[in-house]
Amino acid sequence: MSTPNRPSAVILTIGDELLVGDRTDTNASWLAAFLTNRGFEVERILSVGDAPTGIREGLRSAFEWSGGHGLVVATGGLGPTEDDRTREVVADLFGAPLDTDSDVLDALQRRFRSRGMDRLPEPNHRIALVPRGAEVLWNDVGSAPGLALEGSEGRLVLLPGVPSEMKHLATERMGAVLDQWFGPRPPQSVRRIVQTTGIPESALAERLESRLPSGSEVNLAYRPSVRGVELVFSSTGPEAEGRLTDALQRVDSILEAYRYESSSGDLAESVLDALRERGWRIALAESCTGGMLAARLTDVPGSSDVVQGGIVAYSDRAKVTLLDVEAERIEREGSVSAGVAEAMAAGVARRFEADVGVGITGVAGPGGGSPEKPIGTVWFGFRTPDREWVEQLHLPGDRGEVRVRAVQHALHRVLTNANSIHGRG
Ligand code: ATP
Ligand code: MG
Repeated sequence: MSTPNRPSAVILTIGDELLVGDRTDTNASWLAAFLTNRGFEVERILSVGDAPTGIREGLRSAFEWSGGHGLVVATGGLGPTEDDRTREVVADLFGAPLDTDSDVLDALQRRFRSRGMDRLPEPNHRIALVPRGAEVLWNDVGSAPGLALEGSEGRLVLLPGVPSEMKHLATERMGAVLDQWFGPRPPQSVRRIVQTTGIPESALAERLESRLPSGSEVNLAYRPSVRGVELVFSSTGPEAEGRLTDALQRVDSILEAYRYESSSGDLAESVLDALRERGWRIALAESCTGGMLAARLTDVPGSSDVVQGGIVAYSDRAKVTLLDVEAERIEREGSVSAGVAEAMAAGVARRFEADVGVGITGVAGPGGGSPEKPIGTVWFGFRTPDREWVEQLHLPGDRGEVRVRAVQHALHRVLTNANSIHGRG
């Protein structure tokens, strides 16, 4: 909810293309970040089509959600074509007649002449229509200007739908209007993002929230994916930096085993950095992940000094001939087993003369599961200069998810093991 320091804002994006899925609404997310960062509480994001009734209803709800004295920012429908009806609807809603603004018209005419056209096409004259009392926000990168209006209905900024024009007007022109309406609002929201892997969102939430008392004025958002959970710590106001530093210190010991840092946000990059620092080179033996682990690592530019190579050994025969896994071991324990994962890791490290070997063998599904080895059963073998070990996991999800989670787990284990001597993991 809004407070005196944090006025409400509502974003209304206009255009049929948004409702039929032709366009992703990038204006809404960009404006949401922009307004949040300027100290507004974005209460709602609404989208409507180009039809005047929809625009009218959308504006009415937006004003309502803004509490009447908050801010409404609408984008789209300011162009010259028949389906661009925003300005007419707004004029009607504010009871303001549309006047041709001669400065805007002149600028339009100049713009068209400079592009080699002798006169402004008739439909474009509509772009110069301005609801009486509205302030014109000059558009240096396109033809339709933005408009700012204040009335008993509320406070409204209209911006063109073209994303580059919308951003230009928001950053270069809207600030002055907002200062006028809401007082000067320096950027005040600060965020810190922490990448984690190897712990589910619910477990993280339980442990973190006990350390972050509610009402601590640090907001924590969780963004889970199959690869892990991204944590977004944010705070606003002049104290924001200090509060975030304090909050991160409080949770440091919880996150230590799960967090990683890399410029791209990819765990594979941190793994390569850690291996490089140890002077360790890695080789990969993959069955159920079919080379996905090798792909993750080699997707990172400059990985060739660390990654020696990998073998996709899908069949039992490949495991025997390419990785020197003993055939009778497969016979005895099954191809998804501790012994085979261990032998794969050892075999691939030897073959590639690598310091670190990883073996992955599992049942990714949808077929192949059994009561003893249900779908999602994955055995991992690891070999480093320090130690050698195996692990079994039961991973949730469909075939794709099981494979991604298996790769992520292997990366995480290699990372923590490479880091551990330095006392970092
Ligand atoms: P113009 O003066 O160019 O006609 P306009 O204000 O009429 O601008 P629209 O016609 O609604 O804007 O949209 C122009 C372009 O911007 C289209 O390509 C449209 O798909 C894109 N666009 C509109 N709204 C959004 C949005 N919310 N997010 C991303 N793209 C958008
Ligand atoms: Mg449109």
